[in-house]
Amino acid sequence: MKVTEHIANARETLFSFEVIPPLKGRRIDELYRNIDPLMEFKPPFIDVTTSREEYVYIDRDGLYEKQVTRMRPGTLGICASIKHKYDVDTIPHVLCGGFTKEETEYLLVDCHYLGIDNVMALRGDAMKEQKYFEPTQGGHAYASELVDQIVCLNKGQYLHDVVETDDCSDFCIGVAGYPEKHLESPSLRTDIKWLKHKVDLGADYIVTQMFFDNQKFFEFVDLAREMGIDVPIIPGIKPIAVKRHLQLLPQVFRTELPEPLIEAVEACKDNKAVRQVGIEWAIEQSRELKAAGVPVLHYYSMGKSDNIQAIAKAVF
Ligand code: FAD
Repeated sequence: MKVTEHIANARETLFSFEVIPPLKGRRIDELYRNIDPLMEFKPPFIDVTTSREEYVYIDRDGLYEKQVTRMRPGTLGICASIKHKYDVDTIPHVLCGGFTKEETEYLLVDCHYLGIDNVMALRGDAMKEQKYFEPTQGGHAYASELVDQIVCLNKGQYLHDVVETDDCSDFCIGVAGYPEKHLESPSLRTDIKWLKHKVDLGADYIVTQMFFDNQKFFEFVDLAREMGIDVPIIPGIKPIAVKRHLQLLPQVFRTELPEPLIEAVEACKDNKAVRQVGIEWAIEQSRELKAAGVPVLHYYSMGKSDNIQAIAKAVF
């Protein structure tokens, strides 16, 4: 079922979360062990992230060498297996980076065969050695172009042919939003202008980057509504789990941590205590957002679920 239908049918705020595929070659069992305790909170959908990896390609004669980026395997297989095991909708994150438009089309065709109804359309970040995101040759430069490709596909308009059928995909499309603006954007207003462009092209809902100050989320939603965005906006919540997050999260996700949260984490004597602070902060955030009537609370699990379970127990 589409995310927008889950939201329309719900009488109260829904619970959802995102998982990261295990590293190449590992078994899926640990992922299941982390998902199992969260199923009692009845997530209508689970997101599965996609990431890129870099490697050096050398041809058989050792003559030709280049740095290549490709998507890491796992996302679609994990979506299929979680969907089958738990009977829950799964949402693959589809990236511009690392994909040609043809590869994107093949991936989406596979999603359709697997009965996947939703996809999250994202640009992806710059690779380590790049200052700015560089599109893959033959791929998209912005998530909006990816949204456009998915919308065309939903009408049977493939890249190189048009398929006349009533049976084509009808993906519900999620896109990313940034309450504290995207790092490359000159201002929040400009960023929301481009967010609106994604919605105007056919995006059905927005999931936000993590934030730790609800006021930033409320102001973002107000401005987005004022600028004409009317699709559901789902807040993304990440509980702080280790002391290192104090540096890492602002640096990687360009989110500002509130002073009381920083002080509480700094006062912790070990990471067990930090984890507890993170849980309590996320519970407070979640309760306020729920009371404000957000459609879904979406949690970034980062592979471990004990803290998400504790939060969900207190909030749902
Ligand atoms: P875009 O919407 O393309 O925006 C990128 C930047 O370009 C923004 O600054 C925007 O303002 C600007 N912009 C947009 N369109 C235009 C235009 N036409 N002209 C000029 N400027 C424009 N990354 C992963 O690698 N894997 C994941 O699984 C993943 N999941 C995510 C899930 C969520 C909920 C979020 C919030 C982010 C996720 N990301 C993921 C990170 C995301 O890929 C990065 O934040 C990336 O830098 C931007 O992606 P986007 O889809 O927002 O890009």
